[in-house]
Amino acid sequence: MSVSETSAIHRVNHEIKHRRLDVLRVTDLTPRMRRITLGGPQLQGFTSLGSDDHVKLLFACSAEEQAALDNLDFSRDGVRPTMREYTPRRIDLVAGELDIDFVLHGDGPASTWAAQAQVGQVLNIAGPRSSMVVADIFDSYLLVGDETAIPAIARRLEELPATRKVVALIEVEDVREQQTLQSSAHVEVIWVQRHRQDLLEVLKALPLPEGRLYTWVALEKALTRQAKRLLIEDKGVQEDLIKAAAYWRLDPHDDA
Ligand SMILES: Cc1cc2nc3c(=O)[nH]c(=O)nc-3n(C[C@H](O)[C@H](O)[C@H](O)COP(=O)(O)OP(=O)(O)OC[C@H]3O[C@@H](n4cnc5c(N)ncnc54)[C@H](O)[C@@H]3O)c2cc1C
Repeated sequence: MSVSETSAIHRVNHEIKHRRLDVLRVTDLTPRMRRITLGGPQLQGFTSLGSDDHVKLLFACSAEEQAALDNLDFSRDGVRPTMREYTPRRIDLVAGELDIDFVLHGDGPASTWAAQAQVGQVLNIAGPRSSMVVADIFDSYLLVGDETAIPAIARRLEELPATRKVVALIEVEDVREQQTLQSSAHVEVIWVQRHRQDLLEVLKALPLPEGRLYTWVALEKALTRQAKRLLIEDKGVQEDLIKAAAYWRLDPHDDA
């Protein structure tokens, strides 16, 4: 990595704040993606500098966790609420709104909560703890993800100027999950339907965008690892210019 590329990617830490927010709106974007718009006085001062920032959503899955959440005491007896990571999809502090887009994948504290969410309910969030800021010095971007990554991909596309080229490779359940993504950049979105095509095969055959390239990957854990290896070993992408993150785990007990 050259010096300018090294300094173009840096982490900014934030003071972690816990916020109790109100559900203002519930909007179905697709059959499997639900947008929850949150607001309320505690949204004041919310900061998210990086397109792939995350907040922790806090859920109570037992009486002890509920007590910890009610008292905002996450250290007593080691009991903490159940936490899940989600992308702040849109922040508008003037309107006092924060959007979070949930994949409705089935059972799980976050997905189950989103599936039943109604205006007037409350959601506890914490963070973001930090932001990975990628300065706009790259010529092109390769963004690889599934539905869980669409909020972060959409944010990055919205930030990039007209001079940048982006290839976004996005795996979705079916054609109904393809969202319209806005950008000033020159963007090619390649949608892969999960049960019809193999994401890794499509990635392998994909010509990389030209110029100085920043690559970002967010998929299921095993797939993330395979995609990263393919990018490095088969496509010759420089490892330190890839940010690859496991966004969910097929095996929820796999914490390694
Ligand atoms: C930095 C970061 C940002 C993220 N941003 C978003 C976001 O904006 N929107 C979003 O929807 N998700 C996002 N995710 C993914 C989300 O955190 C996980 O999908 C999480 O596991 C969902 O929690 P849950 O309580 O619904 O299910 P869990 O209790 O974690 O899991 C229950 C079961 O559901 C399965 N499961 C979990 N997620 C999925 C899925 N997506 N598809 C199919 N099966 C699944 C698990 O394998 C498990 O068997 C993000 C993850 C990270 C790390």
